[in-house]
Amino acid sequence: MFGLIGHLTSLEHAQVVARDLGYAEYADQGLDFWCSAPPVIVEDLKVTSITGQVIEGRYVESCFLPEMLATNRMKAATRKIINAMAHAQKNGINITALGGFSSIILERFNLDQLGRIRNIKLEFERFTTGNTHTAYIICRQVEQAAPKLGIDLSKATVAVCGATGDIGSAVCRWLNGRLDVAEILLIARDRQRLQNLQAELGRGKIMALDEALPQADIVVWVASMPQGVEIDPEVLKKPCLLIDGGYPKNMATKFQSPGVHVLSGGIVEHALDIDWKIMKIVNMNVPGRQLFACFAESMLLEFESIYTNFSWGRNQITLDKMDMIGRMSIKHGFKPLML
Ligand code: NDP
Repeated sequence: MFGLIGHLTSLEHAQVVARDLGYAEYADQGLDFWCSAPPVIVEDLKVTSITGQVIEGRYVESCFLPEMLATNRMKAATRKIINAMAHAQKNGINITALGGFSSIILERFNLDQLGRIRNIKLEFERFTTGNTHTAYIICRQVEQAAPKLGIDLSKATVAVCGATGDIGSAVCRWLNGRLDVAEILLIARDRQRLQNLQAELGRGKIMALDEALPQADIVVWVASMPQGVEIDPEVLKKPCLLIDGGYPKNMATKFQSPGVHVLSGGIVEHALDIDWKIMKIVNMNVPGRQLFACFAESMLLEFESIYTNFSWGRNQITLDKMDMIGRMSIKHGFKPLML
């Protein structure tokens, strides 16, 4: 059985969803309530591959909200993730994807050093961050969407916001090794990590976001921001492809400018319908078929009976592993979301 640990994007979002799902007692509550709420299994799921294979899974809502980080409630944030993992394990899930901020919190607070949660010894090999599949899908989105907009990758400047992160560094490796783009702009806050990445790639210009945006033909957004940033469309090149893989979204601006094309990053579309509520809750356009690539990674590992933490730690995603998860993705009927 596969599992998905997810969370909602804001307190406001959580309140709306609680009301829609009939949890009236959650709907009027503030952040304090969500800080103390336990994890819940919201849905049991079945997914059918295009090979005909059927697998079963469960969606675990951790009750984590990004406001917990923004208001320094780190203890609550870490408790949400670790309790959700213990809950998944206790409920017999073999391989669980840690969606959105779940793996970021696990990593940032070294939660993998924890041995035991109450009477449960956490078995970390039952979890995957899902980041290898996410990075692979974002790279395929770059590769497939750019030519449709008349952007020639061999002449293109690609900015990666969140370049030193787990997904961002994998995207940079792919841009460098597989796509041969003209220029890569590396954006993040920590200078030392940027320099390490630049040394690993043997190229790339380190740049502030404001400086990079007017130069970029393509921007890949994979920064771990609890809230999105506003962008002035006037400063962007036309055409410009913006691929936002953040959850919550890195960009707060809704664009209606000619020549500015926004694509939801790290999202896959399955060939067959999945009967579930959860993707409607997170506002997918086609909720029966579209989902986060990280969630799809746990499905792929279940289809292939690979019960190990396929994606784990930070900045260890190789091109070989991206190829491997990519082959599984195609085999079982997933495609990158397109414009
Ligand atoms: P990491 O924590 O590994 O990396 C985050 C990166 O963002 C780092 O480079 C960090 O560097 C940078 N960053 C953080 N804040 C800022 C800022 N204000 N300005 C510029 N750079 C910043 O995260 P992941 O790679 O695991 O995840 C990245 C994003 O992808 C998250 O939003 C996550 O929720 C989303 N995600 C989406 C998935 C999907 O299926 N679509 C799956 C998993 C994650 P520094 O701290 O030095 O600035």
